[in-house]
Amino acid sequence: MKFRKLLFDADGTLWDFNASARISIVEGFKRRGLSYSDHVFERYDVINNGLWERYERGEIARDRVLVERFEILFDELGIHEDAAAFENEFRQGLEEHPIWMDGAEDLLLKLRPAYEIYIVTNGVASTQRRRIALTGLDRYVDDIFISEEVGAQKPQQAYFDHVLAHIGPCDKKEVLLIGDSLSADILGANRAGIPACWFNPGGLPPRGDAVPDFEIHALSELSGVLA
Ligand SMILES: [Mg+2]
Repeated sequence: MKFRKLLFDADGTLWDFNASARISIVEGFKRRGLSYSDHVFERYDVINNGLWERYERGEIARDRVLVERFEILFDELGIHEDAAAFENEFRQGLEEHPIWMDGAEDLLLKLRPAYEIYIVTNGVASTQRRRIALTGLDRYVDDIFISEEVGAQKPQQAYFDHVLAHIGPCDKKEVLLIGDSLSADILGANRAGIPACWFNPGGLPPRGDAVPDFEIHALSELSGVLA
């Protein structure tokens, strides 16, 4: 067996974060009597991704990302609402509606007997802990590393140093990181010297400095990488 320890990203890899975010935004708009269309979520998604990329580059604080995404969205849409209040409700909505990615739960069940499985996730600890409990993700994994609790985030070396120190002595070549973010997951793994599998369900072109060792477009394709 090539790999013994698997590091899975959570949002956008095991959890369909977009599905949860969409539900939460629809609910927030409904509560305020605002009209919602697919355009709203499309714009949110672009704005949110851009801000998290700036966060990963260390250009903006996490707390600013959370509120600014709705400030920019409301600005664009001409909506006069309190972005901070909306963000609070949005985060509660995310906690209440975690949704598994297609096939993710079955995949973990299948891998569990043969591999050590860890979660490596950038996010707010309280939100991630609640969603872990609701999905039962902790039943399938050996440990969970949430950036806020670690005190560093992907792709920072300090984050991966912490993870590697906690998953026990091992040859880095026996570790595989599986994640959907080139700038957080793949770049972080590259710098840490860990093999990386890019989960790319949208078939996006590669960009930036990150170099995935493997690329899959569906979670079902991971078995081919592990074989
Ligand atoms: Mg992700």
